[in-house]
Amino acid sequence: MAKSDVLVIGSNMVDLITYIDRMPVEGETVAAPNFEMGCGGKGANQAVAAAKLGSKVSFVTMLGNDDFGKMQMQNYKSVGIDTSAIGVGNSNSGVAPIFVDPSSDNRIIIVKGANNELTPSVLDKYENTLKEAKIIVLQQEIPLETNYRAIELANKHDVPVLLNPAPANENLDIDYARRVDYFAPNETELSSLTKLPVENMDQIKLAAQKMVDLGVKNMIVTLGSKGVLWVNESHSELIGAMHVRATDTTGAGDSFIGSFAHYIAAGDAIDEAIRHANEYAGVTVTQKGTQKSYPSAEEFKSLKK
Ligand code: ADP
Repeated sequence: MAKSDVLVIGSNMVDLITYIDRMPVEGETVAAPNFEMGCGGKGANQAVAAAKLGSKVSFVTMLGNDDFGKMQMQNYKSVGIDTSAIGVGNSNSGVAPIFVDPSSDNRIIIVKGANNELTPSVLDKYENTLKEAKIIVLQQEIPLETNYRAIELANKHDVPVLLNPAPANENLDIDYARRVDYFAPNETELSSLTKLPVENMDQIKLAAQKMVDLGVKNMIVTLGSKGVLWVNESHSELIGAMHVRATDTTGAGDSFIGSFAHYIAAGDAIDEAIRHANEYAGVTVTQKGTQKSYPSAEEFKSLKK
């Protein structure tokens, strides 16, 4: 396997996106104006964002043994992701039915499928790839034990780790959160982890500070249109988002994480990487869809003008 800048270990899903006028109430059937299918999953989205920006990306994931799995593999190849650590499991592909309303809010259901087969022993096969990466990126749509193994291997080889604790999992062992370099929840995940309210900036700062007090090195909290709060032991800074008209914020967090990893691997300091990733994620919310709203480096250059 080629040396990678960004190694993403995580999920793949097929997004089944329905654009709705309103959510049906219990027992009701409503007609929706539009449906689209797309490749998604937090791991895959983040890998695709980094690859589109020009990083050499390796992706460790487990595809389903169905047509969706084949479609995903084709997709990764088309954006230049190294697919040599991608396996095919014994179950169906992970799928994510997503509902987007006219105000661009979304509701998402996840069926993990083959993603559950990405176990720690699968990861052990790729230790040599892992130790060559400039950054390892993790989320929480695969078993927690697999992430723990990834963190152990990364620590052993001194490779920086970014953990995006999404979706929130209250069983996350805080000791592993301490062992990553960048811990990047959104505000809902931050609230779920800390059991603290995050209704205003003061509360968000307190919750992020609580994680730092527990030993987390860099808290990078994504806050939608408010941007990103970066807090560590000696620094606290709110870095503003782009001013844009949002059309569809599905996958915004993943575009931020994937692009942040790209910029860190490219040598940016943390605040620079956050600024650049805010711009990238800001551009993606102006377009519909998840991965297909992620621009290439060239498209990004012209879109952010
Ligand atoms: P998630 O998708 O996990 O809920 P956020 O909503 O926090 O993530 O968004 C992630 C990032 O995407 C933000 O930090 C910001 O950079 C960008 N973003 C999201 N929504 C907007 C918006 N309405 N305007 C500008 N940027 C946005």
